[in-house]
Amino acid sequence: MFDWLIVGAGFAGSVLAERLASVRGEKVLVIDRRPHIGGNAYDHLDEAGLLIHRYGPHIFHTNSKQVFDHLSRFTGWRPYEHRVLAEVTKPGTDETVRVPMPINLDTINRLYDLSLDQDEVEGWLAARAEQVPTIRTSEDVVVSKVGRELYEKFFRGYTRKQWALDPSELDKSVTARVPTRTNTDDRYFTDTFQAMPADGYTKMFEKMLSHPNITIRTGVDYAEVRDSIPHKRVIWTGPVDEYFGFRYGKLPYRSLRFEHSILDQAEYQPVGTVNYPAEEVPYTRISEYKHLTGQVHPKTSITAEFPSAEGDPYYPIPRPENQALYKRYEALADAAQDVWFVGRLATYRYYNMDQIVGQALATFTKIDASLPPEAANDDAEALRRAAAGD
Ligand code: FAD
Ligand code: UDP
Repeated sequence: MFDWLIVGAGFAGSVLAERLASVRGEKVLVIDRRPHIGGNAYDHLDEAGLLIHRYGPHIFHTNSKQVFDHLSRFTGWRPYEHRVLAEVTKPGTDETVRVPMPINLDTINRLYDLSLDQDEVEGWLAARAEQVPTIRTSEDVVVSKVGRELYEKFFRGYTRKQWALDPSELDKSVTARVPTRTNTDDRYFTDTFQAMPADGYTKMFEKMLSHPNITIRTGVDYAEVRDSIPHKRVIWTGPVDEYFGFRYGKLPYRSLRFEHSILDQAEYQPVGTVNYPAEEVPYTRISEYKHLTGQVHPKTSITAEFPSAEGDPYYPIPRPENQALYKRYEALADAAQDVWFVGRLATYRYYNMDQIVGQALATFTKIDASLPPEAANDDAEALRRAAAGD
């Protein structure tokens, strides 16, 4: 008999499995229908021996010391600040250029052959920005800051490809992920902690899940074990609508097809990711892992991302009608006995890895406060907590 059946071995499931096993001394079974642990953050060596991310580039960044310290129990880190270039044409020409994304002072100076300074570019942008009384959509966010020309060049095509929706049909939170800068900072993220797990994500997950109270079974779907493996409680990190048999209809998720290539050259592009916002280009971005991992190798591996309606669910689609449908599922989830819903798919939130770790740790705190541990006696429990550093 397991105390917990955890469905999904990604960040949500693995962080909780470790806490339940090591702090509360409970017996945990973690299953995943994929043939590996790590969820979307899974990385592995490809045929050339290069470390790649099967589900697209995952760059760790957070402002939460708690999250960073927690993960640091299971991995060392390689400092890494992600940089992105966008390939676009110069306004009014066919000339292709690669300029920093997020849009910053250099982006504008290079695109328009200008030499503005920070104060001047603020005026330049203000003159182009559109007045939007209430910022609701992903179009509003951008046109109100940089105006229509830059919006169309950098955001409209990319977003239409990525989501199969116009930015005007998407919640503002989507494009608001990407700021506009008037300085020359060309980092994609500005978080306090930016680093990659020193030996990769999968190694970090292996360590997190290495507790003797944790059993892992990959290649196993919940439907196959729900009635045959005795367990007291469930943590569900899969799509919330799936858990409830799609009772209210399918929640929309966006998918991607990843095209991985090994190239017989040491470097393909100068930065970790190049974005291709033009709508005619079928992929959104190409990432080259050696920048992220620091691996030295005569070959290089890259991944192109092709947005798709079909395939694994990767992105919840933030827009009001989807949120309304999610709320109906959330009410079912809140009422479900002995089941906790955690993670990007289970809570239908466009969350980064660190936010999922934070959510999982908060869920653990709630569980720990509301349920007496299954552990046999208090002394053993105190020892376990001391060993787990809690
Ligand atoms: P997942 O990793 O999706 O794990 C859920 C697991 O549950 C899956 O492995 C799935 O197989 C399993 N599962 C589902 N249903 C069942 C079932 N019925 N039975 C058994 N198993 C089941 N975040 C960042 O912070 N930085 C980035 O750079 C970044 N880049 C990203 C790039 C891409 C292309 C994508 C798609 C996401 C990116 N993210 C990034 C987000 C990151 O992937 C997520 O925040 C994180 O992986 C979510 O963890 P999770 O445990 O909630 O879900
Ligand atoms: N986006 C865009 N152009 C870009 C980069 C991002 O239009 O060059 C928009 C697009 O809608 C994208 C969103 O901003 O889905 C968030 O970008 P981010 O890089 O955070 O996406 P993720 O890494 O989560 O796929």
